[in-house]
Amino acid sequence: MWHLDEIFTDLTVVAIPTRTNFRGVKVREAALFRGPAGWSEFAPFVEYNESESEPWLEAALESAYKPWPELKRKTVGINATLPKVEINRVSEILQRFPGAKVVKIKVDDFENDSDLVEAALDFNPEFKIRLDVNGGWDLKTALLNLYNYNLRFGNVFEYIEQPCLEIADLTALKKEIPMKIAIDESIRKALASDFSSAKDFADVAIIKWAPSGGFTRANNLIARIGLPAVISSALDTGIGISHGLALAASQSELNFDCGLATTSLFESDVVKPVHEITAGTIKANRTEPDEEIVNKYLASPARRIWWQQRIERIWESGFGERWQHEQFN
Ligand SMILES: [Mg+2]
Repeated sequence: MWHLDEIFTDLTVVAIPTRTNFRGVKVREAALFRGPAGWSEFAPFVEYNESESEPWLEAALESAYKPWPELKRKTVGINATLPKVEINRVSEILQRFPGAKVVKIKVDDFENDSDLVEAALDFNPEFKIRLDVNGGWDLKTALLNLYNYNLRFGNVFEYIEQPCLEIADLTALKKEIPMKIAIDESIRKALASDFSSAKDFADVAIIKWAPSGGFTRANNLIARIGLPAVISSALDTGIGISHGLALAASQSELNFDCGLATTSLFESDVVKPVHEITAGTIKANRTEPDEEIVNKYLASPARRIWWQQRIERIWESGFGERWQHEQFN
């Protein structure tokens, strides 16, 4: 058995403050390390348990140990992301996504959040809007909220992301609303499901490099689901984002802008070269930690130990043996 230090070379844990409160996260922690193929990132959200975090480790190791898939394009179109912020901060946030044609807005309901949509459209009247509900509505609430959104804003919605969690609710909703439905949690929290009836309850699949388990598994998932994919991220640093960009750039079909510009929500990214947004696109390049910036955002020794122990627990649950077997046989 290899020593973990040899597998996760130069393991570094960073803690980056976010500019906004995004899904409750104000400081994003991530473990960065490198392998023969380059730098990689392991960063499941801290509340995730070991079995939820295992695909993230699989993705992280695949990108450290195997070359990227063949890229079919050099750049990837990205969407802006608007978390729940005070209305007077909307333009400050949206300015960080120059040239984006689409904005994804996190919403709880119509009453509290329609002003966010209004402010985004004030910023750019041409924006296509994605609402992300994170499964927060039951069928009745979804119908009511979406009726109001449609009435007020009309045909500006590209899709509604995970309006309900229950498949039965999504299926019924899809028959009733004029908007497309995207699924995220329905995929992420049930990776092993049979998605053969996905077309009955969704139009678009949100696919993320790390929670899917990396390139091979993500592509397998896309094929099984059979819906157009939007490659997205999970508030990764520029290292994880680079792998998301590669996943997007390697797709033979990519019909939607991707959720891969979220480092704009950080106080700073920690990589070089930085992922610059040009005319709503980002180049798919491998990146590495920028030593000077990493030193500024190093996590405390206690947090570093926490992340090491987290990796060890997953590793020792049988994952490590399986991975090494696949790797060296
Ligand atoms: Mg989502």
